[in-house]
Amino acid sequence: MPPCASETCARPSRWWRLGASRGATLDGQWHCSQPCVEAVIRQRLHLVPASQEVRPRLPAVRLGALLRHQGAVPPDQIAAALEAQAETRLRLGEQLRSMGAVDPQALLRALAEQAGVSYLAAVDVTRVHEAPGGLSLDAIQALRIVPIGPPESGRIRVAFPAPVPRTALAVFRQQTGWMPEPYLVGDDAWLGLLEHYGATSRGRVSPETMSMGFAREHDPLEASRRLAQVVMAAGEARMRDARWGHYVWVRLQGAGAGFDLLLDQAPESRPEGAEPWQAATTSR
Ligand SMILES: [Zn+2]
Repeated sequence: MPPCASETCARPSRWWRLGASRGATLDGQWHCSQPCVEAVIRQRLHLVPASQEVRPRLPAVRLGALLRHQGAVPPDQIAAALEAQAETRLRLGEQLRSMGAVDPQALLRALAEQAGVSYLAAVDVTRVHEAPGGLSLDAIQALRIVPIGPPESGRIRVAFPAPVPRTALAVFRQQTGWMPEPYLVGDDAWLGLLEHYGATSRGRVSPETMSMGFAREHDPLEASRRLAQVVMAAGEARMRDARWGHYVWVRLQGAGAGFDLLLDQAPESRPEGAEPWQAATTSR
């Protein structure tokens, strides 16, 4: 029999004997027991490298200059907004909106141009129904990216509110294997998409489901325990993980099934019912 891959395996000489539990294979390495799988996952969760920030290829054009160039806002209004900003601490786009100085669509177009991405002036929020529901509302809110259609030849259209969540886009690609085609949407459209995504995916996957599902944990030890249970139940799994901000997203894939776990290590948990996302419309 093969040796157990866990460094902390308590079994004599880490060699497995015939007759006890079958163990489980994680990333091609065999482990004799759930505690051993758990120890390896725990180690992995502390060693996850931070996801690489994807930098825009071109330096950002300043929003004010862009709006002026597009003729969307008169120069004196931009000057007034820049002055008011010092007091209000709002982003320029927010400031202009609060002053009623910019049309929301013109702002959206300028933000998209500034970020070098496409935008959707109008979104049919029911399109999230065609999107894969494997991601939980938690993951969607944490990533600030929502799929808005079925994957096609490895690519998938996703919508997000400003500013562009470049790290999250990289994480999304790494974890799902799909290349996201990003579309900027306005705040209202974003909230509508979240509402529809939540309505369709909520309750469809039980948190107790071991073979396929999604879990959100705050405690890395508890997260490791859940993941080890899933690996043991599946018998064989591959684990991919990515970190951004205070989140670690772990995806397990086994025989025909997947399991996602979002580890949220925010210094302070938000109170229940508080809006966990802030759809910002603007960019400095
Ligand atoms: Zn072991």
